Amino acid sequence: MFADLHIHSRFSDGTYAPEEVVAEGRKHGFAVLALTDHDTAEGCAAAAAACAAAGMEFIPGVELTAEQDGHELHILGYGFDPTHALLLAQTEQFQGVRQQRIREMVARLNGLNVPLEADAVFALANCRAPGRPHVARALVAAGVCSSLDEAFERFLKKHRPAWVPKFKISATDAMELIHQAGGAAVLAHPGLNRVDEMIPDLVSAGLDGIECFHTKHSTATSQRYLEMADRLGVLVTGGSDCHGMNKGQPLLGSIRLPYLHVEQLKRRVAEIRTTANRTGAAPSPAIHLHP
Ligand code: AMP
Ligand code: FE
Ligand code: FE
Ligand code: ZN
Repeated sequence: MFADLHIHSRFSDGTYAPEEVVAEGRKHGFAVLALTDHDTAEGCAAAAAACAAAGMEFIPGVELTAEQDGHELHILGYGFDPTHALLLAQTEQFQGVRQQRIREMVARLNGLNVPLEADAVFALANCRAPGRPHVARALVAAGVCSSLDEAFERFLKKHRPAWVPKFKISATDAMELIHQAGGAAVLAHPGLNRVDEMIPDLVSAGLDGIECFHTKHSTATSQRYLEMADRLGVLVTGGSDCHGMNKGQPLLGSIRLPYLHVEQLKRRVAEIRTTANRTGAAPSPAIHLHP
């Protein structure tokens, strides 16, 4: 039995509807899937229903864009209550930040004499958590660029002319939010963010696991994080980071996480929930967005 615990849908910058994610996951023979859209858990209800209908297990997930010591890192949440009020309020804020950022990126493009309207990007994205891939798609649709890669290379990559930095939640607040919503917090694809030296501090601050297996991790990189997870006594997770057809080929099926790790994740989620209950789950402090 295998799982893919990192998948995006149309609710952020993936191209599959949650039901299509599940249909594809089923074709690949997965027993368990998690949906981890950027800054939203809106797709989880539909994915859960589709998994139930297909006799598969579903774990609610989310991928929060966070920041620690000036470095961007992505925190995955698993097993939380997707209807948790604080989680909904906070993700709504992040979505607002994303929408405003789209407007700013479009304004910069216009300043470069690239005719594009924010509404064209919003119409194409058709979701509350739009991102740079939607701007890239709009640039391709408008005939300005011939590929998504070209759009990123010319305009959207960090420090390129239409790039706009994103306001992010601190990693500590992201983990706290996930815990309050009853879930476990996992560091996504550390191999892509060069944050190794921060991991012990993140664990002290509440990190529950490390995404050791990821499409862009080499075997040696996965091994390094497996050893680190073992040394620090945290969970091991893994997923494809499939965005549907966004990156040419769907990545679903590239990572097959053994079920043992799902069992350990579920055990950790159960512990987080009993601890939260025992301490009376004090009303949550406000979580602020950090630049
Ligand atoms: P954002 O959250 O708006 O900063 O956008 C980040 C998303 O852009 C991530 O899902 C990346 O995988 C995606 N991305 C980054 N570079 C590229 C690229 N060259 N082509 C397509 N997608 C990309
Ligand atoms: Fe993405
Ligand atoms: Fe990510
Ligand atoms: Zn992702």
